[in-house]
Amino acid sequence: MQLRSPGPTVGVVGGGQLGRMLGEAAAPLGIDLLVSDPTPEAPAAPVARDQVVGTFDDEATILELAEQADYLTFEIELTDPDALERVYEETGTPVHPAPATLRTIQDKLVQKRRLSEAGVPVPAFRAVDSPRELREALEVLGYPAMLKARKGGYDGRGNVPVESPTDVETAFEAIDGPAMVEEFVDFERELAVMACQGEGEVNTFPVTETIHEAEILRQMVSPPRADSAVQERATDVALEVLDVLEGRGVFGIELFETVEGEILLNEIAPRPHNSGHWTIEGCHTSQFEQHLRAVTGRPLGTTERRCPTASANILGDVDREPAQLRGVESVLERERAALHWYGKEEVYHLRKMGHVTLPGDVSADSTALLEDVEACVTPLTFD
Ligand code: ADP
Repeated sequence: MQLRSPGPTVGVVGGGQLGRMLGEAAAPLGIDLLVSDPTPEAPAAPVARDQVVGTFDDEATILELAEQADYLTFEIELTDPDALERVYEETGTPVHPAPATLRTIQDKLVQKRRLSEAGVPVPAFRAVDSPRELREALEVLGYPAMLKARKGGYDGRGNVPVESPTDVETAFEAIDGPAMVEEFVDFERELAVMACQGEGEVNTFPVTETIHEAEILRQMVSPPRADSAVQERATDVALEVLDVLEGRGVFGIELFETVEGEILLNEIAPRPHNSGHWTIEGCHTSQFEQHLRAVTGRPLGTTERRCPTASANILGDVDREPAQLRGVESVLERERAALHWYGKEEVYHLRKMGHVTLPGDVSADSTALLEDVEACVTPLTFD
């Protein structure tokens, strides 16, 4: 006799840290997770029922997942929306969010056009296919600006600042492919809203402030150090964004708060996002549980914040080598601090290896929490 969970089986394309945290959230719900990833023993494998080994866009791999699952989702944008659609037609296993939504989001230019047509506030942008077009666009948008690869960028890879006309040629060469250029936003801070589309309902998590260094997310805190009108506006924009997206699931909506207090949309992730990791300890329902509830068509959970909460990423700081984290005591000794290790076998510079979350007292100050969570991760090393 084989004992099975009471809940459905969810197939997830991608078995990285997001898959791992989905697996951790799935178990108490009685949901079984199946993941696919090209790396055998991927981070999500230990918490999943099984892993199919195959690339994210390989149709046979996606089909193998779908045949064994009641619902299909993805934790990485590098999968193939056409393959997802064909697999759905063949198996009838519903895919959430909709592959069409993934297709829109995969191309930063298509994404920005779609959102701007829908009235969502976005930075001024232009499509540019040659250095000449880039120069012409910047005569209108002005310098500095941000040149972005339309596809495949992550953690700032694929973005090149253009400071002056003399940078145009080299910036365009660095992108090496279809691109778009955006006005450089003079932001006061960056914010993110995790928003969820469920079966006939939507909800949003409390606004997060995100702190990037060299375009990589380092820290996040909620509540943000933004006034309440700005937070309401951020939430309204996130809800406007949801109107444009098809299919169920959590979406990470990255925003700029300009120095004038306006909200502009930076980009959308069609999945749980690094900026929402703090919700595991900080909210009554985590972004991962919420995503599973949404994908499986169950009622959404309350997103209320339990207490002010900050997180800091643990980033690789050495050349490529087998991962070995030292100094974990600094985290474990700290009251309330929670360690999340992603179980990656190799570490390299700036690779996301884990994160630490620090929930504070009800009246904790966000700046102090950020300092405290940083003090937890600073002693961690890979040497
Ligand atoms: P990725 O897709 O690689 O995460 P993003 O386009 O989200 O890249 O950009 C990463 C970071 O780069 C942002 O969080 C922000 O700090 C900075 N950035 C991106 N676009 C702009 C812009 N138009 N103006 C100013 N900073 C920007």
